Amino acid sequence: MGFDIERFVDLNKDDHKCLICAICTDVVQNAVYTECEHMFCGDCLREWIAKSEFCRCPICNEVIDAEHLNPIPRIARNLLNDLRIKCDFEKKGCDAIVKLEDLMQHVKQCKFRNHLTMRGEWKALHLKRMKFNSSQIKML
Ligand SMILES: [Zn+2]
Ligand SMILES: [Zn+2]
Ligand SMILES: [Zn+2]
Repeated sequence: MGFDIERFVDLNKDDHKCLICAICTDVVQNAVYTECEHMFCGDCLREWIAKSEFCRCPICNEVIDAEHLNPIPRIARNLLNDLRIKCDFEKKGCDAIVKLEDLMQHVKQCKFRNHLTMRGEWKALHLKRMKFNSSQIKML
């Protein structure tokens, strides 16, 4: 799956058409480029190929050589990297807007990420406790 289009602040559907994955209709993530010069998310295209009997491009129906998926052209990569996107943790309260190329870096150190981790840890603790209780019950 790609990046949700709604998260981009300056995406222009005409200018950035080529950056949209035709399979998930989001902005391409870990993009790959086919011999027929179409761009998809790496995961979307691999899933598509795995599902279909004949691997054909979802856009132009050309046969796709799954062994020869290329990295996207530099010009598209530059365009992609320059797009500004909202942080993954926007819903947790982060209002940062960063360039796509800086997103990974930001997400790694985003202070709202910790909210998520703490919740996760709490859940794990809770589960442990539940397991403990059920084994106690067995002993009784
Ligand atoms: Zn996709
Ligand atoms: Zn194609
Ligand atoms: Zn953030």
